[in-house]
Order: sequence, then structure tokens, then C-alpha cells
Amino acid sequence: MPTIAGQYVSPADCMLRCPCCQRLRDIDEYQTFLRQINALPPQSNVGRQRGRLLTNYYWDAARHQPGTLHWACDQCLEAGRASLGDVSRQHEHCFALPHFAYYDQEKTCRDCGRAFVFSRGEQQHWYEELQFWVEATRVRCPACSRRKHERDRLSRLLAAPDYTDLARTREILQLLLSFGNYARARLYLAQSRKLFAHGSPEYHWLQAWRADINAREQAGPDAPPAAP
Ligand SMILES: [Zn+2]
Ligand SMILES: [Zn+2]
Repeated sequence: MPTIAGQYVSPADCMLRCPCCQRLRDIDEYQTFLRQINALPPQSNVGRQRGRLLTNYYWDAARHQPGTLHWACDQCLEAGRASLGDVSRQHEHCFALPHFAYYDQEKTCRDCGRAFVFSRGEQQHWYEELQFWVEATRVRCPACSRRKHERDRLSRLLAAPDYTDLARTREILQLLLSFGNYARARLYLAQSRKLFAHGSPEYHWLQAWRADINAREQAGPDAPPAAP
């Protein structure tokens, strides 16, 4: 029987299912993960249980809450299916489960329901460069995520309208049209047009927009999602 931290453990109790390859691995096959746990600074929240494998919070999570802790077996790391995470660069917080390893994760988009991959490179960028909270995860595919940013941007712009700022007006109109919201675009245009003299270059510019909006509406929407 192997001994861990002075206590006997049955080999079966040491078996962990690697979240990357989904294979059951025994203790000889996840030495890197154990080294990572032991290397955590003892004064940090994440290092508090250092050296006590049987009660180690992270080992326990890997064992009893599959899918909640990201780590990888030695084989996955060696084969390049997974890459090592640097926990010291991640945003630390009580009870947060850090990313000991990164591997591509299959996700389902919250908005369109399509499958997409949250790549390991992107994960590393999120948690170690951008310092995103370690429990943050991608919930939208890249296209829907872009769409959401545009929706948010449009909401912010419409919340503080400035009808004299033509650069802003152009951005608002482009966004409204991309969402197929012709009525709102026309309304915004009408507000803006009131502020410029007939025959002025600005007035002509806005008139041209009006013609463009009408033409686009007649051409039909290219399946735009609902505008806010
Ligand atoms: Zn594995
Ligand atoms: Zn999507």
C-alpha cells in the first residue's frame, strides 16, 4: 500500500480521472500535478493545504468533483494535449480553483446553441495575462460574443445620445442597421437632422444616410439578431 503524508492509501483511492484525456490515472501518472500543488506558496490561499495530500483541497477536488478543477496527467502534458498553468499569475481568491493545466474545452454557446472550443491558449491569456477571475469562462462563441459587444456598445451610445456628433451618429446608425433596427435608425437620424440647416453639408450627409436606410430595408435584412 502506498503511503501519502504518513497515511496508508489504497491504490484505488489514488486514482484520478484526468479531465483532459478522461483516463483514470494512478499516482505515478500525475506527478506533475502533485509537484504543482506542493510548489504553491504556503502563505497563499491556494497553498494552505500544501504537503498534506490526503486533505489537500485541490487533490480532493480533482478526486471528488470531476470537471471543477483543471489539471492534466503527465501523459497529456508530455504529448502536448495540455499545457501547464502558472497558478502564481492567476487571480487568487479564497476557495477559487486555479488552472493547473490548460486544454481545449468544448462548450455550447449560450446564444446560438452551437458547439465551439474555448482554446487553451485563450484560457491562458484570460487568466494569466488579462487576470480574469479564474472561474470566468467563455459562454458565447466568437461570433455571438462579438455581437454582444456590439449590442452593449450600442446601448451605451444610445443611453447618452449626442445628435451633433456625426462620428458618433455614424457608429450608432451602422450598429442599428447591423441589427436590422431601421425604425430606430430613422428616428435617430430625424433627431440629428433637426439640428442642421437645410442645405448644409451635414444635412446632405444625413439625407444620404436616410436613402441608405430605406434602400437597405427594401433589400431585406441579412438575418440580423434582435436589437436591444
Ligand atoms: Zn490526461
Ligand atoms: Zn454563438
